[in-house]
Amino acid sequence: MKKYIGAHVSASGGVEAAPVNAHEIGANAFALFTKNQRQWVSKPLTEESIRKFKENCKAYDIDPRYILPHDSYLINLGHPEEEGLAKSRAAFLDEMQRCEQLGLQLLNFHPGSHLKKISIEECLDRVAESINMALDKTQGVTAVIENTAGQGSNVGHEFWQLKYIIDRVEDKSRVGVCLDTCHTYSAGYDFIGEYDKVFREFDETVGFHYLKAIHLNDTKKALGSHVDRHDSIGKGLLGIDFFKRFMKDERFDNMPVILETPDETLWAEEIRLLRSFESS
Ligand SMILES: [Zn+2]
Ligand SMILES: [Zn+2]
Repeated sequence: MKKYIGAHVSASGGVEAAPVNAHEIGANAFALFTKNQRQWVSKPLTEESIRKFKENCKAYDIDPRYILPHDSYLINLGHPEEEGLAKSRAAFLDEMQRCEQLGLQLLNFHPGSHLKKISIEECLDRVAESINMALDKTQGVTAVIENTAGQGSNVGHEFWQLKYIIDRVEDKSRVGVCLDTCHTYSAGYDFIGEYDKVFREFDETVGFHYLKAIHLNDTKKALGSHVDRHDSIGKGLLGIDFFKRFMKDERFDNMPVILETPDETLWAEEIRLLRSFESS
C-alpha cells in the first residue's frame, strides 16, 4: 500500500485514544487535536499520555510520518491586531511543542484571516513571520499550511498565497502544504473538469515537493462558492470518479490522506471503498 489513509479521529479521553480509534476504522494514517480545539489553554500532556500514545502508534503500526495533528480553530497567525496575534503565536508554539513531545513531524493549520482590517499580503506576511517564530523555537516539526475555501476573510485559498507564505519562511525544510479537496474546489479550482490543469498549476505555483498531506473530502458547495461544507466520499459534487483517479495518482502517495467527512459512522466503509480503487 502506498496510500496512507485515515480520518480526523477523536482524542477524547487523551491523545493515546486516537491511534486506537484510527485502527478501529482500518486506517494507516490519522489526524487529531492534541488539545481541546475550542480553548486557548489546555493542560500539558502528561508523561503517561505521551508514552501510551507512542506505544499505541507502534502497536497498530502507524508511523508518525502519517499522523497529521490539526491546530486549534481559535488561532489566527495573520491576525491584524497585536493582542490577537500574540495570543495566536503563543498558542501555535504550544501546539508545535506538543507535536515535539509526541514525536510527531507535521502540524496542520489554517493560515489565518485578515478580518477586513489589513490587506491579503499584509496578512500573509504575518502568517510567515508567525511560522518563522515557531520554527525558531522547535525542532523536527514541519508547519503544514492548509489551503482554504476562502470563506469570509480567510487567506490561503489561491495557490499563489500558499507560495507567498513559503517564500517568506526561512527554513524551507520545515514548511509544507496540505491540500483539502473540498476547499480547493470551493475556492474555484475545477479539478473535476480539468484535473491535469489544476494539479499542473499547483505544481508550477507551489511545487509538489511542498505537498505534505491531503484532506480528502467531498463537497456540498459549488465550484467557486467559497463556502466550506464537507460531504461524505462520493456523496457530494466531486463524484466517485474523482476519488478513483486520486487513488491511482502516485503524486499523493506516501503522505497522510485524511478524511474530514461529516458522517463518522461511514469512515471505515469510506476507507475500504478508497482502497478498492487503489487496486482495481
Ligand atoms: Zn481540511
Ligand atoms: Zn473545511
